[in-house]
Amino acid sequence: MFPYCDYHMHTPLCGHATGSPEEYVKQAIKVGLKEIGFSDHAPMVHMPMPGITMAFDELPKYHTMIEDVRKRYASQISIKIALESDFLVGFESKTKTIIDSYPYDYIIGSVHFIDDWAFDDPATREYWKKHDVNDVYLKYYALLRKSAQTGFFQIIGHCDLPKKFGARPSIDLTDEIKATAKVFKDTGVAIEINTAGLRKPIGEMYPAPNCLKIYREAGVPLTFGSDAHHPEDVGKDFDKAVDLAKSAGYSEYLVFKQKKIEKRIKI
Ligand SMILES: [Zn+2]
Ligand SMILES: [Zn+2]
Repeated sequence: MFPYCDYHMHTPLCGHATGSPEEYVKQAIKVGLKEIGFSDHAPMVHMPMPGITMAFDELPKYHTMIEDVRKRYASQISIKIALESDFLVGFESKTKTIIDSYPYDYIIGSVHFIDDWAFDDPATREYWKKHDVNDVYLKYYALLRKSAQTGFFQIIGHCDLPKKFGARPSIDLTDEIKATAKVFKDTGVAIEINTAGLRKPIGEMYPAPNCLKIYREAGVPLTFGSDAHHPEDVGKDFDKAVDLAKSAGYSEYLVFKQKKIEKRIKI
């Protein structure tokens, strides 16, 4: 089933992942990946959030850590340096400062917040009871579109994240997803098939098969990510991810270098 590229993984700097970068790299080599990209949580822009993201002054350490494994394992695997950056309305200039501070290969833009609520954080799961599920989804898709329109991101992360704990909308969101897919296509962002959803209460990858098909039909390109927070999750369930991609009609995925498409790889 391999080789493929895993573009979404973390490091202990974010405060909720385990294992050294070297262990992630070794696992990637073990499972036969062609290339990986570290995309740890970028420093939070509205307030420091230890346990969720690294601090701003930890960025140089992050770069040094990844550059080190990149050099040492250069003959065995290609390693890209990236970030997963939260999209927060009103904090765009600070976000831009962070993502421009280093020659990153790509930035994954992720909507984890609706207003001040980190809706996918297990610690705030109770808040779901206070929100209308349909309303959460509608706000989420509006934020996804806004995030793509910033031009900050090459990849939009786990693009149906509100389903994580199992909350499903009762309204048909097809038009909403189609509108989002059009914005993604027009702004040139890719999406990822993120296998971490299989390890969450929802038990399915992000995005769901019907959503993925809409993105493919709109011409939105693809990447793959395990969203590994532990070394053993690198490349996890990529056989299923590739099957999902193919069943949605995808025939290739993207590889990035310094925020440009470096190549397209057939699946
Ligand atoms: Zn995380
Ligand atoms: Zn995320």
